[in-house]
Amino acid sequence: MVDIKSMYLQELQDDFAELGFQKFNAIQVYKWLHQKYVVSFDEMTNISNSMRKKLAEKYYICVATIEKKLVSDYDNTVKYLFRFNDGECVESVIMKYHHGYTICLSTQVGCKMGCTFCATGMSGFSRNLTASEILSQIYSSQADLGIKISNIVLMGMGEPLDNYDNVVRFLKLVSDENGINIGMRHISLSTCGLVDRIYDLAELNLQLTLSVSLHAPNDEIRNKTMPVNKRYNIEKLLKACKYYADKTKRRISFEYAMIDGVNDSDECALQLARRLKGMLCHINLIPVNAVKNGMNYKKSKIERQKAFIKILANSGITATVRRTLGSDINASCGQLRRSIVQRGE
Ligand code: SAH
Ligand code: SF4
Repeated sequence: MVDIKSMYLQELQDDFAELGFQKFNAIQVYKWLHQKYVVSFDEMTNISNSMRKKLAEKYYICVATIEKKLVSDYDNTVKYLFRFNDGECVESVIMKYHHGYTICLSTQVGCKMGCTFCATGMSGFSRNLTASEILSQIYSSQADLGIKISNIVLMGMGEPLDNYDNVVRFLKLVSDENGINIGMRHISLSTCGLVDRIYDLAELNLQLTLSVSLHAPNDEIRNKTMPVNKRYNIEKLLKACKYYADKTKRRISFEYAMIDGVNDSDECALQLARRLKGMLCHINLIPVNAVKNGMNYKKSKIERQKAFIKILANSGITATVRRTLGSDINASCGQLRRSIVQRGE
């Protein structure tokens, strides 16, 4: 069976021509899939019964089924655990900001990268998500909440650039004017630093925001917390980031999870400032979320966060502390699935 929701409109039109259907039928079907929320061909009321039957013989429609839903009492942040056909589950989080709704999407079931502060990294890797499975997290959330999502961050479970082809396909589908048409400027992709893929992405010259999880100012600390650093060290990573920023003219956003006593000293801030000086970038500081049964990491104290920002500012580098939403529902991704997998549910 063919995954119809992962197909580009052009691919669908080519297929339809072979099946003896019209070009406009492909557009009709594509719009049902991407602009309305349908889970079966029978719901496509403007195409004939016989065509629906033929389509159901060749294609399947990917659906993200709600397995669990948590709503924050504080700020209405919603977290879903979605289940796919084979029983695998991933998490998505919807946050409300003044400019609209942002969804945090997963790109893999688990992750191979093994960062020591991350709940997803601790649970190991199961499989890549298809483009349709990434899209379906948006479609199911919109249908359930009755909202329209305007911004996307690929910051849920998984390393997007380790699932490069499916993620690029997703990006093209989600920004297609015949689909839900969310512009690249409303999308951020977060990576732990797969350097070769950053160069590939730069060549595509998409206008999305590249967010790079740096989390350390030197290789000694980064090697300990992020195993990927042994493959691509900070120097190689920053060289790729500079290339990306020059090529796309887009500001890079660096993520820096502040861990008490690990990477939050004045010296760390000074080293970080030296490394990033002169680069088109912004730093997001995230007080680290403690992960159950993980390493004993704690959030940096408020005074440390302030001192860190001040040192960066003195070097002309802007840094802000990210607002934490949904802290009562474990809104940082990987934690919900991890708690369920561990309980054996
Ligand atoms: N794999 C990608 C995207 C998913 S993780 C990446 O690593 O960039 C999204 C962000 O959450 C990353 O910046 C990641 O480093 C961060 N993160 C993971 N676990 C965290 C934790 N316990 N506390 C704070 N940030 C965390
Ligand atoms: Fe994977 Fe990102 Fe978690 Fe690292 S932080 S283990 S790359 S999901």
